[in-house]
Amino acid sequence: MQISHWEQTTYYREADIVIAGAGLMGLWSAWELLQKNPHLAITILDKYPTPLGASTRNAGFACFGSLTELISDEATMGTDAMLAIVEMRYKGIEKIKQLFEEKEIDYDACGGYETLLSSHAAYSSLTERIDYFNQLVFPFIKTNAFELASNRLSILGLKNFDALIFNRCEAGIHSGKLVNALSQKLIARGVKILFGNGIESYHSSNKQIEILLTNKATIKAGQLLLATNAYTNAITGKNWVTPGRGQILLSSPITGLKTIGTFHFDEGFYYWRNIGDRILIGGARNANFEAEETTDLNGSDTIRHVLSDFLQKHFNDPITIAQSWSGIMGFTKDKKPLLVQLEDNVFAATACNGMGVALSPVWAETVAATLL
Ligand SMILES: Cc1cc2nc3c(=O)[nH]c(=O)nc-3n(C[C@H](O)[C@H](O)[C@H](O)COP(=O)(O)OP(=O)(O)OC[C@H]3O[C@@H](n4cnc5c(N)ncnc54)[C@H](O)[C@@H]3O)c2cc1C
Repeated sequence: MQISHWEQTTYYREADIVIAGAGLMGLWSAWELLQKNPHLAITILDKYPTPLGASTRNAGFACFGSLTELISDEATMGTDAMLAIVEMRYKGIEKIKQLFEEKEIDYDACGGYETLLSSHAAYSSLTERIDYFNQLVFPFIKTNAFELASNRLSILGLKNFDALIFNRCEAGIHSGKLVNALSQKLIARGVKILFGNGIESYHSSNKQIEILLTNKATIKAGQLLLATNAYTNAITGKNWVTPGRGQILLSSPITGLKTIGTFHFDEGFYYWRNIGDRILIGGARNANFEAEETTDLNGSDTIRHVLSDFLQKHFNDPITIAQSWSGIMGFTKDKKPLLVQLEDNVFAATACNGMGVALSPVWAETVAATLL
């Protein structure tokens, strides 16, 4: 396609930095770059008419981690690395709260719960584990995050669980409003966001990059950041990120709904929350790990049935499903956020691993510092 002079000097103008991906990682990276240098010409490209990966299709938890997830992370990555990520997530939530009015993004400081079965390895030592993790996070949270709250299970309309842990620092958020509000702030600061036009390939020479877009137009830039999460492999041809499909069901309105707040089960593999008088539930990837390592957004009946059965087994209220969708997460092998330099001035970043809402605002600071 031929590009007009007018388009060339506006939409496809030469940029200091082009960011591929208008999800939370791309947007927060642009925000942090502008904090360091407000004069940067930044263009963000997204392949789809709206951001289509994880950021606008997630469950809307502003969470820093459930107790059993932290136990599992500590076992796999060690105490210091686990704690560093928890601190980043905590600071990320604080940053979101500072930048946006609560009502702008439906921020709901409802707290979070984790449900447990007595078969879980941590069940017999819950009080000790809670004390241990409270002490670990106290230096930056300045309060006890976790407390045992099993007596609230029936008040919250839940059954067939053996224990409940409350986490006072977690919250609910409207993911669409967050992405939209952050995009608006960037546009107001001169960032161009092009939708429906992704990066097809790039060619780097003489400290300049020529980026070929899906509509065959090109943009020249000084630096390129791939914030394309699970789609990064398709662009780079290398296996940086493993896709993980997350599926979600949303119920019809439930009169007198008692299950208010955000909830986790099974190291975060199952999660649910109320949205007004409806229940959103997602997860169960571990019911069919291999099949869910995909970027196919269609979802599967297998997982939808597992989630529906879960609702029947654990909720007192009868629940009918009104809507379902899926989104695509990206996972790194070590569960740590990723920042790699692919060429002199080409980088890829993802705050992935299923927790990007809280992590991306802080990981973006590292990304911006590295690029500049
Ligand atoms: C079902 C589900 C539930 C989740 N729940 C939570 C939660 O409650 N709390 C939480 O913290 N995290 C949650 N997550 C994870 C969180 O949403 C992600 O960690 C975060 O959104 C990742 O942001 P990102 O910008 O790295 O990736 P994405 O949001 O996936 O953004 C990547 C972008 O790249 C674009 N793209 C793809 N190909 C190209 C191309 N060639 N050129 C240009 N652009 C391209 C895509 O359209 C997309 O907009 C969930 C994820 C899913 C899927």
